[in-house]
Amino acid sequence: MLDYPTLRSVLSDMGEPELRARQAYHAVSRSLVTSFDQATALPASLRGRLARRLSVVDLEERRTLRSPDGSAIKTLFAAADGLPIEAVQLTSGTRVTVCVSTQVGCAVGCVFCASGRLGLRRDLRAGEIADQVLHFERLLRADGRRVTNVVLMGMGEPFHNYDQSLGACRLLNHADGFGLAARSISISTAGVVPGIRRFTAEPEQFNLAVSLHAGTDDVRDRLVPLNRRYPLHELLAACAAYVRRRRRKLFFEYVLLPGVNDGPEQVAALGRRLARPLYHLNLIGYNRTDDRFPAPSPADVRSFAADVRAAGVACTVRHSPGREIEAACGQLALRESPC
Ligand code: SF4
Repeated sequence: MLDYPTLRSVLSDMGEPELRARQAYHAVSRSLVTSFDQATALPASLRGRLARRLSVVDLEERRTLRSPDGSAIKTLFAAADGLPIEAVQLTSGTRVTVCVSTQVGCAVGCVFCASGRLGLRRDLRAGEIADQVLHFERLLRADGRRVTNVVLMGMGEPFHNYDQSLGACRLLNHADGFGLAARSISISTAGVVPGIRRFTAEPEQFNLAVSLHAGTDDVRDRLVPLNRRYPLHELLAACAAYVRRRRRKLFFEYVLLPGVNDGPEQVAALGRRLARPLYHLNLIGYNRTDDRFPAPSPADVRSFAADVRAAGVACTVRHSPGREIEAACGQLALRESPC
């Protein structure tokens, strides 16, 4: 997705007035053209010249999988350099959430995450992140629907690519452009403390989620290697500062792995650390991607949730639609390269 400053600069170079930049930006971010040849608000001669200078869409759709009930759609794109990028659309009632990737691969290496096993290939640019959303929005509009929520929770650690991730949120939120409300956009971090501190000071009301996955450092060290750098006391101090300053709900994600992070000591630690106003734990049963961990039964997940609630923590069990197409949390793995 092109941003307004880029369009204004290119059109100014071409000797065009600012009005043309506004029209071109409207075409890209509101009419969702895929080429300037389709931007009918622009003079015909300019459309062709602009189309030769700038491409509107940098991602090429390579493969799309749909769950049998249609609630989950996973699309594999190729970036301009051929690298693979995955995004998922999840529908629940009127809510249509698009989960986007912020990097190709990921350097964090969470042990239960398929994406983490790839290592980091490269950061995505803000336009490439936003383009994943625009792709689904184009398809939805044909049915009179819209993307209602965006989560930066696909492949990659958004705060390892801070500027481009925030840049994508701003592109999607831009009032004269795509116009998605800031409160409908969420960033999920595995616990990059400097990123949380920086995010706390941002002016927009984007949401924050922290992938916790354990209540004690010994278990979290094993699951999320980043914990050795930013242990729980540091991470939760940054979280507390965020809530104090923003007065917004903070979501903690917890992938339940039987025999690993479902013991009573984890429940007790979660009670000590998270039984606070505005803290909310989202519990997700592990989606099995290989033989390293078993998946919990729905009863196991419900029972852990009940124990955590009894310890004073607000907790919701999240269902993971899209298991059939490996579109659920931790399953974005790029099983095949589009190259
Ligand atoms: S869970 Fe997120 S942060 Fe952890 S390896 Fe996977 S993509 Fe990276």
